[in-house]
Amino acid sequence: MRIIRTIDGIRTAVTEARAARRSVGLVPTMGAFHDGHLSLMRAARADNDLVVVSLFVNPTQFGPSEDLAAYPRDEARDAALAEQQGVDILFAPEPAEIYPDGFATSIHVSGITEVLDGASRGAFHFDGVATVVAKLFGIVAPDIAYFGQKDAQQVMVVRQVVRDLNLPVRIEACPIVREPDGLAMSSRNVYLDADARQQATALNRALDAASDLHVAGERDAATILEAARRVLLHAGIRPDYLELRSNDDLTPLEHVDRDALLAVAARVGAARLIDNHILTTRDERGTR
Ligand code: AMP
Repeated sequence: MRIIRTIDGIRTAVTEARAARRSVGLVPTMGAFHDGHLSLMRAARADNDLVVVSLFVNPTQFGPSEDLAAYPRDEARDAALAEQQGVDILFAPEPAEIYPDGFATSIHVSGITEVLDGASRGAFHFDGVATVVAKLFGIVAPDIAYFGQKDAQQVMVVRQVVRDLNLPVRIEACPIVREPDGLAMSSRNVYLDADARQQATALNRALDAASDLHVAGERDAATILEAARRVLLHAGIRPDYLELRSNDDLTPLEHVDRDALLAVAARVGAARLIDNHILTTRDERGTR
């Protein structure tokens, strides 16, 4: 596996691959790899001739009071894990390579960014995500890019950018990878002490309780949300948000008559965690 730090370097490598008619898959990440990241790399490895993983803790998607400085970083460990998955190139640029002096463009997606994490964290977050992902697509020019359903709203934002800017890339959303006790894997789980780690299991248990009601035929959103809220409150968690929204455009649902995104965000101990389930109108469970 090659580690490349410059845009020129990655362009040269991808151009050579393309000249040899090799397909290119990209997995954008901020590092601190866990099995969720590795599942995206394996999906990319299965589909593509050349697999590029980007490792870039993107400063513009963090707010001033967020955890940019504390965000876990261990490039050597990440490189070893990526290599084990058969990744060909780790693209690990410095911030100045991505945002040189004079950088002045920001991509803003309206509508779907104004709720859930966009409302809770602030508009800057998805502006930062949309801009860096568009740049990565411009730099790497992948055929397919892989994202985790863990960040369901992020996947929607990326799809919207690709559609609106006619970017020639296919977006693959991969299922949420969980710990054995159901906690969604996240780089931020390292912030949890033992008590908070235990408390954090309530997020998925709350979503389970709501999903169970939905599977049993309940369609009233308030009733479904109440089941989840009870589990959270019992665990001492007051969510930033706990909402049921249409899974295609994030409009709020009172009656769950179509595929719905059941999304939660909460501060647990020192971490802010997010999780979600898809409630499908078919009689089966979505990404759990
Ligand atoms: P991050 O490094 O947190 O920006 O995540 C990089 C990619 O991995 C994003 O597309 C995430 O949605 C995805 N990801 C993070 N956690 C998980 C998980 N538990 N399961 C599946 N994908 C994940």
